[in-house]
Amino acid sequence: MQNNQLQFGTVCAKEFKENRTTTPHALPIYATSSFAFESLQQGIDVFTKKEEGHIYGRFGTPTTDTVARKIAALEAHQLDIEAEAMLFSSGMAAISTLFLALLQAGDKILTSSNIYGGTIELMNKILEPLHIASVWTDFKNLETVEQVLSGDKQFKIVYLETPTNPNLVCYDIAAITDIAKKHNCQVIVDNTFCTPFLQQPLKFGVDFVIHSTTKYLNGHGNSIAGAVVGKDVAFMKSRLFQTMKLLGTNCNSWDAWLTYNGLKTLTLRMERHSENAMRLADYLNQHPAVSCVYYNGLSTNPDHELAKKQMTMFGGMLSFELKDGFEAGKNFVSKLQLCTLAPTLGDIDTLIMHPASMSHAFVPKDVREANSITDGLIRVSVGLENVSDIIADFQQAL
Ligand code: PLP
Repeated sequence: MQNNQLQFGTVCAKEFKENRTTTPHALPIYATSSFAFESLQQGIDVFTKKEEGHIYGRFGTPTTDTVARKIAALEAHQLDIEAEAMLFSSGMAAISTLFLALLQAGDKILTSSNIYGGTIELMNKILEPLHIASVWTDFKNLETVEQVLSGDKQFKIVYLETPTNPNLVCYDIAAITDIAKKHNCQVIVDNTFCTPFLQQPLKFGVDFVIHSTTKYLNGHGNSIAGAVVGKDVAFMKSRLFQTMKLLGTNCNSWDAWLTYNGLKTLTLRMERHSENAMRLADYLNQHPAVSCVYYNGLSTNPDHELAKKQMTMFGGMLSFELKDGFEAGKNFVSKLQLCTLAPTLGDIDTLIMHPASMSHAFVPKDVREANSITDGLIRVSVGLENVSDIIADFQQAL
């Protein structure tokens, strides 16, 4: 019907279609909550999965699905593995949805106490009351891992981060996965710190890769999102999709689109993050106020060889210990002029944290020290600035 044949209010409400060429070069943001069908038959076919198509924004949009496809392609790049990915509203949404899709009451997770604090809280405060227990181990001690898993068939998941936050401890993904497989456990690796450019956990037999894309995959600090990548395509398309859809933990098109823009420069950024971090680590390593530098790129680091084996570069995260402890840490971060104090990582610019006075200020000293968060520890997410400016800022603050 022509617009002039309709009432004013109807023209306001009507969806206008663009009839000229509309194929975009760049991925558009699909800001729509649902998708229209061209015919009843098409509606029936899409609902009954005879035809692939979009239905409702909570189930995914062309924007979110395209970004997920790209992340899967990167995690499985040149591995001869078919992988599927799904995007979520945050890294935590990705982790919690995957756990709830995989586990039931009575199941157990084997993990370590130095994983991301939010994941520990999820295990303790949400999963534990659902009778899904988490057991903390030291993944450096492979004999213990073997013993724990062989003695209890309730273990279903082995969950690890490597390198860890903030001490950059590396775990042997292949060796841990071999043990887990012997005991019928699935392995999940949170690859947020590395991105698939530096490390592809699927290469070592891992079942699922997690990302807080909020960090390096986006890289610009302007969106919150997460991803799960899995090689059991049937599970991803059925059980994980269903759990995401019913919990409503889906990512929106806007945050997905921002992530997509970031992905285009991932290699350039990760190379520069790694080069800058190496230079800063070398500088800090010879500074008299610094007692220890945690960076896998240093040949003196105990995990240097392992990191070389399973990573292509050493990444942009490092931490270091100030000799004079808590006050020195507070003084150092207060004096910084270029670098920013912020509780995130993986952005374009250099971000600093003094965990003892910031993220862990309310954690009892003995508890935080048991997790290697000492008084003088500073965590650095090394940015893409000219490294001489970062070093000059550190120099004046030290
Ligand atoms: N995993 C790691 C390693 C993280 O550092 C974070 C957040 O800092 C998360 C997961 C959670 O991600 P998000 O904040 O996107 O929910």
